Amino acid sequence: MTEVRIPPPLRESATAGDLLALLRAGRASTRADLRTATGLSRTAVVARVNALTEAGLLRLGAELASTGGRPAGSLVFNTAAGIVLAVAIGRSRSQVAVYDLGGTELAASAVDHEIGAGPDEVMPGVADQLRQLMTDDLPPVLGVGVSLPGVVDSERGVSVDTPVMAGWDGVALAPYLLDVADAPLFLANDADTMARSEYLGHASTFRDLLVVKASTGIGLGVLADGRIISGSRGGAGDLGHTKVPEAAGRPCRCGDVGCLETLAAGWALVARLREEGRTVDHIRDLVAQALVGDAEAKQMLRESGRQVGELLAVAINLLNPQAVVLGGDMAAAYDVYAAGVREAVYARASALATRELQFLPATYGDRAGLVGCAALALDEVLSPAAIDARLARART
Ligand SMILES: [Zn+2]
Repeated sequence: MTEVRIPPPLRESATAGDLLALLRAGRASTRADLRTATGLSRTAVVARVNALTEAGLLRLGAELASTGGRPAGSLVFNTAAGIVLAVAIGRSRSQVAVYDLGGTELAASAVDHEIGAGPDEVMPGVADQLRQLMTDDLPPVLGVGVSLPGVVDSERGVSVDTPVMAGWDGVALAPYLLDVADAPLFLANDADTMARSEYLGHASTFRDLLVVKASTGIGLGVLADGRIISGSRGGAGDLGHTKVPEAAGRPCRCGDVGCLETLAAGWALVARLREEGRTVDHIRDLVAQALVGDAEAKQMLRESGRQVGELLAVAINLLNPQAVVLGGDMAAAYDVYAAGVREAVYARASALATRELQFLPATYGDRAGLVGCAALALDEVLSPAAIDARLARART
């Protein structure tokens, strides 16, 4: 009988970008590891590693030995080779931050604006804040991650349906930031970026997650099998504008009537309190009152959680997630809000879907949007294809 020898996996096509991805993911740390992982020849690995090193993307372990670094021969991703900018645009406040290529925040700030302000009012302020954060000693900006409430067209980098932020639809955002950073801009929905931050926060151990953003509006980020689901037109997770019987006839800020938001969104709760003559400017004021024990505020938040939970139960039965993450301003009063959500979910979702279901607060709290925007930009600018294109440009 002849012995059949099974050859090792041959991936002669593995590029420098692929090798960097293996090193970043911790699946290789030396040239020998890279040969084993890819089946590339010694010469091919050396050539690709040299290209990455010359581009400043890799450092050799020996260079780092003086700082108590890695053993000689090891290859280390140089997280200081560039930066990405993160811009989480909200209805009344936008957060901005600078991150290194390892995802560490270097500087951050926030800018308040009028609710409903358009891009011409908001974006110059955002650009100013970023300019102040960017000190002269920083490496080049490789990309900018931006999130917006509402439906976005990530290909074109524009909002396509943000009824609650007038004037943003179809407006390209990149030109506003061109003199801050001549780098590609990547745009995503705010709940989607929050879901991205949770994937990161749980070290990818959760592959199926629902992430509720309960703030002025109500959005849902969906992570299914490790991928953010945006839907065919970017509209996946638009939970807040689902019609519910209890809201029949109530006018919504989206122009329609009967939406969940008219009962449960931060803006609706604030409006109700104002009608009662109470002084509240923002949903954060109501949450602050709940946190110091105000019974009515707690009751309102719990009821909002319950309303959201009723629709969430359908999504839970549909997608069978491992966990539901509750984030956004309202979930800052986590115990109260989560109690309402759980009450409705356990009453409505199937026993199978809820048996091992976990409820969790947002890993990064009120920084979740920024972390998600940074992760979005890093995924794009460090993808194998983007790295290979970068090296090709450097050669010409
Ligand atoms: Zn609506």
